Amino acid sequence: MGVNFKATAVINAMRSVLPKDKKTMALHEPVFSGNEWKYVKDCLDIGWVSSVGEYVDLFERKLAEYAGVKKAVVVVNGTAALHICLKLAGVQTNDEVLIPSFTFVATANAVVYCGAVPHFVDCEWSTLGIDAAKLDEYLSIATELRDDGCYNKATGRRIKALVPMHTYGHPVEIDAVALVAKKYGIELVEDAAESLGSYYKGQHTGSWGKLSALSFNGNKIITTGGGGAILTDDEDLAKLAKHLTTTAKIPHQWAFSHDMVGYNYRMPNINAALGCAQLEELPGFLAKKRSLALRYADAFRDVEGIRFFNEPDNASSNYWLNVLILDEAVAHERDTLLKSLADIGIAARPAWTLMHRLDMFVSCPRMDLSVAEAMEARVVNIPSGADL
Ligand SMILES: *Cc1c(COP(=O)(O)O)cnc(C)c1O
Repeated sequence: MGVNFKATAVINAMRSVLPKDKKTMALHEPVFSGNEWKYVKDCLDIGWVSSVGEYVDLFERKLAEYAGVKKAVVVVNGTAALHICLKLAGVQTNDEVLIPSFTFVATANAVVYCGAVPHFVDCEWSTLGIDAAKLDEYLSIATELRDDGCYNKATGRRIKALVPMHTYGHPVEIDAVALVAKKYGIELVEDAAESLGSYYKGQHTGSWGKLSALSFNGNKIITTGGGGAILTDDEDLAKLAKHLTTTAKIPHQWAFSHDMVGYNYRMPNINAALGCAQLEELPGFLAKKRSLALRYADAFRDVEGIRFFNEPDNASSNYWLNVLILDEAVAHERDTLLKSLADIGIAARPAWTLMHRLDMFVSCPRMDLSVAEAMEARVVNIPSGADL
């Protein structure tokens, strides 16, 4: 008996949820209905649009408070945040960094910016994130512990960091992942770019790692146009993060001097102003997105061949991007479905091409990635904006 999958059944379910008065439905559109105009205008009125201004400090304070960490350092984008997190976690040239193959390319790129090599790990269906038990089993065979860290037996390289990513806003089992990192003496850095507003066991994602990265790109749950942040509970690391991302300039009334090769990664004040206003709106966005997810879950309950992905156990998800999962038997129908949705103006997207398939990463080390490969074939994202 085959699964009775019909694209029309999916379309009908989506139509029953989505607003009737919208011609086209984007995957995720920003919403500016709070103090965005006011704060941005304020920057223009005062003339402080660039590298100094009060909104940068304010946004950093509010973000740290919201995520329950000691410090936040805002930067130009999430990729830059990841780059600095990895550097400050001690990742050096020729180290390896464990990351999921099922992620956005920025996670892998940031590893390479440090001169290091991504080492791809598998995910689990329950969270769409790293499978801690499978990783533990793999590391117990593939690595050896030496005085100065965990080494990949096959490549001879040190494995310095592990970067779980909270996929589409759904928290990974971060406590289990953190235990694996600890067991092997590997630093934990979270890619929380998609999970602002998501909690695992009541604790905000991005507050579990030594350092974590957020993104405020235009498609994320809140946006600063482009932007990102580094979160940490370590005040010294936060100071260093600020220093490194602001060209490592030594503070002085007039002299220009620098004590390291720094980066010009600072977030301009005008973007931080937008961020302050968006952060005020976040609780409202979360409520709207949860309500949309509940309506989707309801509408897809009886659709054959496909299921709506609900937040994992022990987690409160921000439902950044809603997820449909095709049954294995009908995975080959995916592109027909995407085409049918595109034809009626509903944006839907397949999962990312897995990192280990991209030309620049094909020769990187990896474990068995069978679950990630199944996800790549069967995951579809559907419209998720807070305006729906
Ligand atoms: C968006 C995103 C990033 C990078 O953020 P940018 O601000 O676009 O540089 C990193 N990792 C993941 C998983 C993301 O979704």
